[in-house]
Amino acid sequence: MTHPFQSFLEELYLKYRDLKDGTVASYIPELAKADSNWFSISVVTVDGKVFEVGDLSQLFTIQSISKVFAYGMALEDRGRDTLLQKVGVEPTGDPFNSIIRLDENSKRPDNPMVNAGAIATTSLIKGQNATERINRLLEMFRNYTGRDVFVDVPVFMSERTTGHRNRAMAHLMYHFGMIDEKIDEALDLYFQQCSILVNCHDLAVMAATLANKGINPITGDRAVSVEYIRDILSVMYTCGMYNYAGRWSYDVGIPAKSGVSGGLLAVVPNQVGIAIFSPLLDTHGNSVRGIRVCEELSRHFQLHIFDLPMGCTQFLQKLSSKDSSTSV
Ligand code: GLU
Repeated sequence: MTHPFQSFLEELYLKYRDLKDGTVASYIPELAKADSNWFSISVVTVDGKVFEVGDLSQLFTIQSISKVFAYGMALEDRGRDTLLQKVGVEPTGDPFNSIIRLDENSKRPDNPMVNAGAIATTSLIKGQNATERINRLLEMFRNYTGRDVFVDVPVFMSERTTGHRNRAMAHLMYHFGMIDEKIDEALDLYFQQCSILVNCHDLAVMAATLANKGINPITGDRAVSVEYIRDILSVMYTCGMYNYAGRWSYDVGIPAKSGVSGGLLAVVPNQVGIAIFSPLLDTHGNSVRGIRVCEELSRHFQLHIFDLPMGCTQFLQKLSSKDSSTSV
């Protein structure tokens, strides 16, 4: 018998499959090749149950969602105090690629989820040379996904040759002493991390790993120290959904991060990881279907973190029992 939650996801999928609002990102030329029909939803519990539907094997580049995981790695490499000196934790209300605030106040990028903050964060990842740094990053992503991951070279090259804004921000940050002189190396590592290929299932496992205090619930491997989970989820909650983060926190109330290729990952602490992939984006850069699916999940299962204690703490129990009633 199909689990009621699986049926719930399948109904959601059918409900939003024909929603065609939004556009596929094209400012990175390679991303414009995405098929606007691609759509998948995956939910993985902290005890390893998997519920999913749609184009689950379709690979796409992780883009901005990588910032969450690079932030965790930089925290492990350098510690909280060093990170806070170089990258703040304030939401901006500005677009992700805004350069304007870098030249104001502290000269420190506002948070690790906007591009400037993400480039500064990635520049702090340790390694003797560029090869060691990318290998460490890939290894970290492997621990989260539970499988080997690779960089999509055409997307990497596409970003590398067209990412002038990111390049300008990196140079400005060097000017202000926020990153060191290895500017091109930091940018290449950032472009590579954004170009790592994942599928929707991978994203849900990654989210479930954060929900499970840093341990991948499928493989049992630790991907990040439990010490930094709170920091990571805090910046996801306040800054993860571009300049829609406030409204998202208000309506959906789940720490989350989206990316311009159409991925969206949400973490219900101690319960589940949720991922949606659909490349049609709204004007903020968030997946249109992704937002709608998360709104429905949050409302239906009371997953907003301030619905506690009656809400999301019971979600896992609900998914573990076969007779729970769920309908869209
Ligand atoms: N690599 C993309 C950029 O730097 C990431 C943007 C995003 O997904 O928000 O523009």
